[in-house]
Amino acid sequence: MVLNYDLGIVGGGPAGYTAAFQARKLGKSVVLFEKDEIGGVCLNRGCIPTKTILHSAEIFEEMKKSENLGIQCSDLKVDFEKVIAHKDDVVAKLRKNLELALKNAGVVVVKEYAEILNSKQIKAVEDLYECSQIISAIGSAPAAPKSLNFDGKYILSSDDILNLKKLPKKVLIAGSGAIGIEWARIFSSFDVEVIVVELADKLLPIADIEVSKRIERMFKMKKVKFLTSTSVEKVSENSLSGCDVTLSNGEVKNVDFVLMATGRKPLETQRIEGVKYIGDISGEIQLAHFAIKQAICEISEIPYDKNLIPSVVYGTPEIAWAGAREQDLEAGTFEKSMLLISALGKSHCDNCTDGFIKILSRDNKIIGAHIISKEASALLQQLIIAMQNKISVDKIKETCFAHPTYSEGIFECICNLN
Ligand SMILES: Cc1cc2nc3c(=O)[nH]c(=O)nc-3n(C[C@H](O)[C@H](O)[C@H](O)COP(=O)(O)OP(=O)(O)OC[C@H]3O[C@@H](n4cnc5c(N)ncnc54)[C@H](O)[C@@H]3O)c2cc1C
Repeated sequence: MVLNYDLGIVGGGPAGYTAAFQARKLGKSVVLFEKDEIGGVCLNRGCIPTKTILHSAEIFEEMKKSENLGIQCSDLKVDFEKVIAHKDDVVAKLRKNLELALKNAGVVVVKEYAEILNSKQIKAVEDLYECSQIISAIGSAPAAPKSLNFDGKYILSSDDILNLKKLPKKVLIAGSGAIGIEWARIFSSFDVEVIVVELADKLLPIADIEVSKRIERMFKMKKVKFLTSTSVEKVSENSLSGCDVTLSNGEVKNVDFVLMATGRKPLETQRIEGVKYIGDISGEIQLAHFAIKQAICEISEIPYDKNLIPSVVYGTPEIAWAGAREQDLEAGTFEKSMLLISALGKSHCDNCTDGFIKILSRDNKIIGAHIISKEASALLQQLIIAMQNKISVDKIKETCFAHPTYSEGIFECICNLN
């Protein structure tokens, strides 16, 4: 059968479904192909499931420390099967909502593998779809060095780890990007022994230098072991328990398994002229909100500023940043203001005093913001709005911030800038 649409989209993750909603708003007929589950990696194997498990881990962590706050909990236990079942429920509920929203918006969803034949035709099963415009939003997959192939037993990907039946005793996490740090936080909160191995000379190497240093300090306090300038060379089964991991410094670590959090690569696909590639497949920033932004801008034909895409590492406290990093700026060309979170009354009320707000400015405008704090993701967003709209430091100083909040920290930090 031959069917005709204004827009054909392959891939039902954030990039694909956002493009579909946006095109429907403009009155276009849209067909969306998804070979697996609607919602893509973000909803099924990424953002949502990890943050749901993280929330359980944070509650457990808080309860362990709650006696000082006047709350007594005895016989605290983790039922990990329930943690995973709860995660599955959250994912299923959100997926159902998304499927319904697509239906209500009039997007035709075809749950099949689709092949883009050329800039105007898509094939799925036996049908041919003739489309005026085609978007590929097929995403990315976990990547690991060739010698360390995922085996689902001792070398796990970020997909495999979401379906653990029980908590491990000791894990090694290769890579300290957002995924590696979040899982280190999850496992350590659940009292699992964690070793993080990072190839770069600092943890979270994509962050501002002072953020990296602070995470190292936090990991030391939480007894999360880490090795920088080190890589995983070999993983072999240990006849007594788990596996032996040989590191580049010659050390051998015995752990239950290795989580390879060493990045993701766009799916392999032939690039066809005239087809738009958005989201992770574009090979740009691998974040759901970037995929969403790209999709909206692509459909509405508006430009976007890649410099102002927020980065967030979840957990307690959150880590969030956008714009320039101090290590990339020439000394003397910018101003810097830093405020410790412990200076804020709210942080003491919440028993969460670790962290800082760091703002970089030039010519009375904010050029970078780096925050470690409870609610850091929400705090950062205030500064991104200021950066995007070129609101001056002086103007922000005129704004009234509520008390007691973490936002006051933004105000105090800004007040230290000229
Ligand atoms: C563990 C983890 C945690 C993450 N946490 C965050 C976070 O907190 N915040 C954040 O912003 N980002 C996070 N990300 C990244 C985020 O998930 C991705 O950037 C986002 O999902 C990319 O969206 P996408 O639409 O480009 O691709 P995807 O979400 O990968 O969707 C692509 C879809 O295309 C489908 N597909 C592929 N080929 C075909 C085909 N031929 N036919 C039909 N369908 C096809 C796939 O099945 C898939 O569903 C995380 C990722 C991981 C792995």
